[in-house]
Amino acid sequence: MNQKIYDIAIIGAGPVGLFAGFQAGMSDMHCAIIDTIDIVGGQCALLYPEKNIYDIPGHEKITGQNLIHNLKKQCDRFPHDFFLQNQVIELSKTDNIFELKTDKNLLIRAKTILVVAGNGSFNPNKPAIPNIETFENKSVFYLINDINRFKDKIVAIAGGGDSAVDWTLMLLKNKIAQKVYFIHRREDMRCHQNSLLELRELEENTDSLEFKIPYVVENLIGENGELNKIVVKNFLDEAYKVELEVDYFLPFFGLANDISMIKKWGLNIQKNKILVDSSNMKTNLEGIYASGDICEYGGKTKLLVSGFHEVAVACHNIDKYLIENFGKKSEVFHYSTSKF
Ligand SMILES: Cc1cc2nc3c(=O)[nH]c(=O)nc-3n(C[C@H](O)[C@H](O)[C@H](O)COP(=O)(O)OP(=O)(O)OC[C@H]3O[C@@H](n4cnc5c(N)ncnc54)[C@H](O)[C@@H]3O)c2cc1C
Repeated sequence: MNQKIYDIAIIGAGPVGLFAGFQAGMSDMHCAIIDTIDIVGGQCALLYPEKNIYDIPGHEKITGQNLIHNLKKQCDRFPHDFFLQNQVIELSKTDNIFELKTDKNLLIRAKTILVVAGNGSFNPNKPAIPNIETFENKSVFYLINDINRFKDKIVAIAGGGDSAVDWTLMLLKNKIAQKVYFIHRREDMRCHQNSLLELRELEENTDSLEFKIPYVVENLIGENGELNKIVVKNFLDEAYKVELEVDYFLPFFGLANDISMIKKWGLNIQKNKILVDSSNMKTNLEGIYASGDICEYGGKTKLLVSGFHEVAVACHNIDKYLIENFGKKSEVFHYSTSKF
C-alpha cells in the first residue's frame, strides 16, 4: 500500500484532470492523479491530437496534442504523483479517509476525491488477429505515448476514423516515420473532411504514404514481439493477399468507454453523468466532487472551458473542506500572478 494520504485523488488525467492538478497545487494540495490508460490528455490526446481547437481563451488555435503538452507542463509545476495504466475500480471510506483500489491492485488513500472521468475509462477496440497480444506494447500499439519510437520506421496504420488519419498525418508531416501504409477496408472514411484532403494530397505527392484500400490485416509475422511483416488481404477478393515489411502496426478501431465501475460507488448518476451542485461541484457523497464531461447540472456544456472553470470551483471548495475537516492551514487566496 502507498502509505501517503493525498489531499485529493483525481480520477482521470484528461485535460480537466490535468488542470485540476494545477488548481489544487495553487492551494498547496498534494494529489494522486490516476488514469486507466498510459497517456495523459483524455479525449484531446486520443481522439483529436492533430485537430485545431479554436475556443481555448488566449489561443487563436491550438492542437489537441499541444494543449495537453501545455496542461501537463502547467500541472508539473507541482509535485503530484501520477498513476497511469490504473483504472479505479473500487472506492470505500474508513475513518473519513477514502481508499481507492485499482485494477492493478494498487491502493491509494486520500482525504477527498475529484472525479474527472469524462465518458468513462478508455479501452481500445482490438482487431481479431491471431497472436496479436504477443506483439502488444512492443510493436503493436493501440494508443501512442511516445511518438519518437516511430522515428525512421515503417508503420502500418489501420482504421478509417479520425485517429487513424490524424496519426498518419502526424507521423508524416513531422517527418517522423519513414513510411506509412494506411490500411482500410473500404473507400469511405469517418473523419474530418480537411484531414482526408490532406491525407489524399500526401498520398498523391509523396512516396512515404501508401494506401492499402480495400484491405484488412490478416496476420502478423515476427519473433519475440518484434514485427517483421504483416499480411493484408483484399477485402473484396480474399484470395488476394500481400505481405508488407513493417516495424510497427497501429490499429485504430475506436475506443470503448466504460463507466460501470464508477456506477458502483453510490454516486447520484443519471444517464452516465454524475449530478453535482454547480455552486461547489459537490456530489451527493461528502468529500467527493466531480467536474468536466462526467458531471451534470442545469446549464452544463461539455466544453473544455467549462471543465476548467468547474475544477477551479471544485478545488476552491475542496480546500475549504480540508480546512474545516482536516485542519489544513488556511490559505489566503492568491491570484497566480502573486503566488510564485
Ligand atoms: C472529436 C472531438 C472534438 C472536440 N472539440 C472540442 C473543441 O473544439 N472545444 C472544446 O471545448 N471541446 C471539444 N471537445 C470536448 C472535449 O474534448 C471534452 O469536453 C474534454 O475532453 C473533457 O475533458 P475531461 O478531462 O472531463 O474528460 P476526458 O477527456 O474524457 O478524460 C477523462 C479521463 O478519465 C479517465 N478515466 C475514466 N474513468 C476512470 C477510472 N475509473 N479510473 C481511471 N481513469 C479513468 C479516462 O481514461 C480519460 O483519460 C471535443 C471532443 C471530441 C470527441
